[in-house]
Order: sequence, then structure tokens, then C-alpha cells
Amino acid sequence: MKEYEKNIRKVEPYVPGEQPREKVIKLNTNENPYPPAPGVRAALKEMDTDMLRLYPDPTADVLVKALADFYQVDSSQVFVGVGSDDVLSMCFLTFFNSRKPVLFPDITYSFYKVWAELYRIPYECPKLDKDFRLVKEDYYKENGGVIFPNPNAPTALYEELFVVEDIIAHNRDVIVIIDEAYVDFAGASAIELINKYDNLIVVKTFSKARSMAGMRIGYALGSPALIRYLNDAKYSFNSYTMNQISLICGVEAVKDKEYFEENIRKIIDTREWAKGELKDLGFQFTDSKANFIFATHPEYDACELFESMKAEGIYVRFFKSPRIEQYIRITVGTREDMQTMFAFLRKYMKK
Ligand SMILES: *Cc1c(COP(=O)(O)O)cnc(C)c1O
Repeated sequence: MKEYEKNIRKVEPYVPGEQPREKVIKLNTNENPYPPAPGVRAALKEMDTDMLRLYPDPTADVLVKALADFYQVDSSQVFVGVGSDDVLSMCFLTFFNSRKPVLFPDITYSFYKVWAELYRIPYECPKLDKDFRLVKEDYYKENGGVIFPNPNAPTALYEELFVVEDIIAHNRDVIVIIDEAYVDFAGASAIELINKYDNLIVVKTFSKARSMAGMRIGYALGSPALIRYLNDAKYSFNSYTMNQISLICGVEAVKDKEYFEENIRKIIDTREWAKGELKDLGFQFTDSKANFIFATHPEYDACELFESMKAEGIYVRFFKSPRIEQYIRITVGTREDMQTMFAFLRKYMKK
């Protein structure tokens, strides 16, 4: 080993789902099958490219204000970043700076472990119960912070707000982060608790419910003090994380509440219909409240099924991880894409 190798910060990176370039039925990374709000398209068409000479506003003011209006909070309670991955990474760096372990579930968004390792943050992973439910008492012990998604990924299970609040209330001495990437498909958001708990940060994204994964916009809501700490860390890292095009398009998306709600309603309808189809095929699955379904089949090996679907150009996600290696995660696509998938599954299972 070369001498300098000893001082290199090494980390095993997060592995995102595949992004095939050929045309496939893409149900593997929880993107939204519908286009962004029409205002986004119009703004891009009319965009004045001369403005790209200039640096964007480092405070991302227009987007912060649009989100503050949308959630009826003060602008000082909103932080924006380059997708929620960037926001979450900043949160790990800023808020998880203790020698005590940060807590997150054993089965969850696998990026948490990567950030903890990258930043040398100790962590522990309490086990979800046998039904993949969060055990709230596991989060009562001394810790350096808590983070979990609600709904959780890849289990798709949503915990009612009283469970989330119980965990926040038992952890007033540390920061609790709720990653709500999928909450718009589920139920009540913890955003309504940010004025009650000054140790709470809620992180959200434009990638799933707002159909803008390619634009990279995420945000966090919390007390003005916590948001100030996040901005201090951001300005010490890169002042201009939000590019001008994202700022403009982000505002357009937030403005169109009606389109947003209609988009979500369509996905929920397809999800509930898809649960019935999966049941008919003999699949078992959690009661998904997200835009994906986490399913297993008692008679078919998940890895083989995943490979067979892929060979047909139908991409879903498979995790070779303990406890979930017999599950596939299927993103809820358009009704047509789902029908194509079910037609293949019926043929495959001779049903
Ligand atoms: C998709 C996802 C994110 C990241 O989304 P961005 O595209 O970076 O905004 C964060 N957390 C969870 C649980 C997710 O599933």
C-alpha cells in the first residue's frame, strides 16, 4: 500500500438504481411517471439564457419564499439544496456531531449509512419488527441524533404522526430528522410539528411527488436556529448550490397546487389498483403508502424474478440485503406501464 493511501478518506459509496438509456418500463427508482407542472415547461421555453452569466442568488430567496408560502411558515424556517440527498448530507454534517451513535432503522434508505461513514459519525441500527414496523421504544435510549424516512423506504410503511411525535418528544436533547420524500402519497406531515419541537428537521424533495428528479431540488423545514446552522454549513461548503434554472422551475412547480394534488391522486389510484392485481398473482406486500410497492412471492425467488423482468425490459429494484432479499420494490408507474408488467407476470407465472 502506498504511504499516502493511509490518509485518503475512503468510503463505500451509495449505489443508486440503474438509469438505462434505452427505452424500458422503468419502475426502479421511484420517479414520477407524469411530467412536471405545465408552468415548468413554459418557464424553460421562455428562459432568458443571458442571466446564466451571473451567479445565482446564494440565499435561493425566490424558492425559499415560495416554499414558505406553500407551507405557511416563515422564510427563516426553510433551507433548500440540490435534491434532498444534498440536504440530508448537510444535515448529517451539521447536526450529527456527537460521539454517541446516531440511530436509524436496520432496513431503511441506504444512503444514511454512507453519510455516517463518510463523516465518521458513529451509528446504530435498531431492527424494525417482523412486519417491518418501527419500534418507537428503540429510540428512547441515549443517542447522538435520530433519522428515519416516513413513509420508510424500501418498506413503504407510514407511521402515524403520534408515533413520530413520540420519538421526537423522547429526544429533546438531540436533532431528529424525518425524511419525508414520500409523505405526499401517505398522510399527515411532521411539518405541523416544527413550531412545537425546536429539535425537529423535516426533509422533503421535488423528485417524487413533484416529478422533478432531474432538476435536483430538496428542502428542509425546521426552527430558524436550526436552518441558520444548516446555511452556515452550506456557505462553508459551496455558496451557490442552487442553480438559476432550478430556482425558476422550482417556483413554478410550487405555484401549481392543483396539478400537484391531481398528480398524487392518480398515483395513489394506480397504487391501490396495483395492490389488487399483485394479490391476484399471489404476491404478499406491505400496506404501501408511498409511490412504490414492496412485494414478495412465496413461490418465486425475488432475484430470479427481478432478472427475468429485466430481461423483458421491465426494471424494478432488488436489494440483496439481510431480511429483504426475497422482496422486489416496484415503483408505481402509469396504468399502461403497470399493465405491461402485470401481463408479463401473468405469463411468467402461467396465470
Ligand atoms: C428518493 C429519496 C431521497 C432522495 O431524493 P433526492 O432526489 O435526492 O431529492 C431521499 N430520501 C429517501 C428516503 C428517498 O427515497
